[in-house]
Amino acid sequence: MSDDGVRGEDPATDDAPARPPLAPAVLGGLTVEEVCRRNLLEHSDEVIYFKDLDSRFLLVSAGCAALHRMTPEQMVGLSDFDLFEPAHAHIAYADEQRVIATGVPMVDQAERERWADRPDSWVASSKFPLRAPDGAIIGTFGISRNVTRLVVAEQEAARNVRATEAANAELRRVEAQLRAVLDGTTDAIARYDADLRYRYLNPAGERVRGLTLDRLLGRTDREAGMVDPFVGAWEAALRRVLASGEPDDLDYAGESADGEEAFFHTRLAPDRDAAGVVVGVLTSTRDVTELKRAEQALARQAMHDSVTGLANRYLLTDRVTQALVRMERYPSRIALYFIDLDHFKHVNDSYGHDVGDSVLVAVAERLRRLARKQDTVARLGGDEFVVLCDRVVTDEDARDIAGRIVAALAEPVVVGSRRIPLSASVGAVLAEDPATSPSDLLRGADAAMYRAKQEGRNRFTVVDPDELEPVEETAVLELELREALEDGHLRLLFQPLLSLSDQRLLGFEALLRWDHPTRGTLAPGDFLAAAEAAGLMGAVGAWVLDAACAQLAAWDPRRPEGSARLTMAVNVSGRQLREPGLVELVREVLGRYALEPAQLSLELTERALVHEGPAAHDTLEELGRLGVRLAVDDFGTTYSSLARLPHFPVSVVKLDQLAGAPWQRGMVAAVIAMAHGLGMSVVGEGIETSDQLDELVDLACDDGQGYLLSRPLSRDEVDALLAAGGTRFPGLTSDDGRAGADLR
Ligand code: C2E
Ligand code: MG
Ligand code: MG
Repeated sequence: MSDDGVRGEDPATDDAPARPPLAPAVLGGLTVEEVCRRNLLEHSDEVIYFKDLDSRFLLVSAGCAALHRMTPEQMVGLSDFDLFEPAHAHIAYADEQRVIATGVPMVDQAERERWADRPDSWVASSKFPLRAPDGAIIGTFGISRNVTRLVVAEQEAARNVRATEAANAELRRVEAQLRAVLDGTTDAIARYDADLRYRYLNPAGERVRGLTLDRLLGRTDREAGMVDPFVGAWEAALRRVLASGEPDDLDYAGESADGEEAFFHTRLAPDRDAAGVVVGVLTSTRDVTELKRAEQALARQAMHDSVTGLANRYLLTDRVTQALVRMERYPSRIALYFIDLDHFKHVNDSYGHDVGDSVLVAVAERLRRLARKQDTVARLGGDEFVVLCDRVVTDEDARDIAGRIVAALAEPVVVGSRRIPLSASVGAVLAEDPATSPSDLLRGADAAMYRAKQEGRNRFTVVDPDELEPVEETAVLELELREALEDGHLRLLFQPLLSLSDQRLLGFEALLRWDHPTRGTLAPGDFLAAAEAAGLMGAVGAWVLDAACAQLAAWDPRRPEGSARLTMAVNVSGRQLREPGLVELVREVLGRYALEPAQLSLELTERALVHEGPAAHDTLEELGRLGVRLAVDDFGTTYSSLARLPHFPVSVVKLDQLAGAPWQRGMVAAVIAMAHGLGMSVVGEGIETSDQLDELVDLACDDGQGYLLSRPLSRDEVDALLAAGGTRFPGLTSDDGRAGADLR
């Protein structure tokens, strides 16, 4: 307190006269001491008491009596034993007796008061000897102040301290764990401040960075020697995270600690302080080299042929497209060479596939050597290769390259101790119009190659794309189809035939597909007319019959338990019917695969049955006698069809693609009724919706096929179907089976 504050009140520093003593009248006849004593004891809340030598109350303050819910008079003569629990009373008694015995006061002793009728309380208790005027101790007096609030606050504080200590210990444990993780992880983890300076870097980070933390702490990457352009991109990413507060990712190539090319992925996350303010960036960097290599290997596999390592069709098409795009800017010419080995099938057949593969690898190697760096050498599959030559200046150049390819492939290949003779036919197209499509170019080269083959193999032909007339396509197709038969590029799909009443599997219809080298998978409609025109229908039909029956013989023993033998429907064209030898062929194939004739059903379209003459009729009768079932396929639901039905020597009627035809319920009902009347069974074809299915079941149609029940399946899919008990039909799960073309 300053001097100013006390001036005028302190007699020692003030000259003012001393106050007069209090008048007896003011004191009501009492002494000053008496007035003060009364005020102290009767008008304050202080707990003050006086006790005799036996610790009995002589006099208590009003506050003390109130504490015990008594009057001061009631308390006189009582002791603590009357007021407190015995344990507490004993302690108080002992304290007082000690004060009496020693004359030494007890000051501010903390005591816990236990009450029967209220919560415990804490007091600071002081006890003094009560002395007679002669100094003899005649008892004690004491003051106790309630300090419960203080004690509770202290206890609370102590609890808080303990909790804080526990929390700190937990924090230290978590920190130790984190440190172990940070030290042990192979990810590089760093913390940067808002000035892009290092605040932390874990040991993996030190290894990647090639610098220890003490060299980096407080410095930026640029200051620590990282160079552009990388450091520019890196710091830009850090700044982006600082500015946006959003995490970011960065992928980049660099060098691993041992100097190898390596790939990294970094996750950048904002580092926030307790208030959520972004104060830096945390980065976690992972070496993803192995992942990247695996990805690259996969990408390579997707773009390359696995046998020869050459580009595959996909990559070739891409390169051709690029070359055409470049042509737009820099007019030039490109040449595409289509190379087909002559009689390669014989190599495979006579020496086995391993030798065949070695020959393909040798061919690939020769073509690679012959090509320039910017050229692309591809294998399309089988024995077909393509070389794309960029920037071919003259026709002469193009011929020269073709000649060199033919010459390079005319040399025999040595595999082990064998010398395998080789020759190739090469077709080339030249393009200088950027608008040409890659597939047209490829088809052109393919056609040119066939011309070379037609002209006697082991040679080349160069054509202009404009030269390729559609007229030529039939001829090309014919050659290609011959090759397809030879090289095994034809295959069958099998569409399940189900009994409509209970959707039981009865058998399959074989549907022909051609995996064409340049045009992709072809459906019968794409090539059968040409096959007929080229006189190849007999050969194709024989192949189909044989392949379908072989498959039936393999599957029949695996039919669902307890069901009848599986059937196979094979489509037969009108031309096949006319050609001699069909009956003999069927008999032979049935014998070869030990099939019952009734397991085979031959399907002829209504059109074929109408247009083929009496000879065809005889053939049909003979086939009928053989026991095979005959079906009229694509049977129309018109009056003219209805009128013809009794004249067809068939036992099965296949109602034309119901999906496409306008649904004439009355006609369908009439056809089914008439067929049943003639002892024929009826198959509903092309069932795509459950409404169609329900209608057919209503009309007592016997069997059915269509996308709703099942799409045509590959051989593997039928294998899986039979393995699963032959009851799971993919199409039955969806309402609409039209999920896409079945060119698989
Ligand atoms: P098809 O004998 O009437 O065979 C049914 C055709 O309809 C098949 O077409 C099949 O994929 C398709 N199909 C099946 N279910 C549905 C459906 O729910 N909705 C629709 N929209 N179509 C369905 P694909 O395979 O293109 O065969 C077409 C035709 O080519 C066949 O008609 C058949 O006449 C003929 N064909 C197929 N394979 C051969 C064969 O090996 N030899 C001969 N000569 N002709 C064949
Ligand atoms: Mg058919
Ligand atoms: Mg049909």
